[in-house]
Amino acid sequence: MIKVEHIGIAIKGLSEANELFHKLFGKAHYKIEEVGSEGVNTSFFQMGETKIELLEATRPESPIAKFIEKKGEGLHHIAFEVADIRAEMQRLQAEGFQLLNETPKCGADNKLICFLHPKSTGGVLVELCQEIKPQDA
Ligand code: ZN
Repeated sequence: MIKVEHIGIAIKGLSEANELFHKLFGKAHYKIEEVGSEGVNTSFFQMGETKIELLEATRPESPIAKFIEKKGEGLHHIAFEVADIRAEMQRLQAEGFQLLNETPKCGADNKLICFLHPKSTGGVLVELCQEIKPQDA
C-alpha cells in the first residue's frame, strides 16, 4: 500500500455536512459525485496529500444507510492507494484477509476499489483504491 488516499465519513445529509466540514476545515469541498452502484452521494475535501470523503446514502439499502442505522454518523472507512489493485487483492487474500468483492469495482473519483471485511482488519473497514488507467477502462 502506498499512502492513505482518503478517509470516509458517513453522514446523514450532504449539504448540512458540507457546511459543517467547511467550517471545521476552513475550506470548501471541491467536488460532489454520485456513485449509483453503491447508493451514495459523496463530496471530497482536499487535505494536503489526502482527502476526506463524506458519504450520504441515496437509498435505504445503501451500505451507508445501514451503517448509520447501526452506528450513527461517523468514521466509516480508510482508503489506501495501491499501484495494482488486482495484485494487492491477491496478496491480501493469500494473507487471510476477507475481501468484500472478488473483482475491483468502480468507485468515486476515477478509482477501482475493493473493500476488506472489518472482521479481518481489526474492526476497520479498509478500502483499496487504484487510479483507473486507460487500459482498465
Ligand atoms: Zn472511499
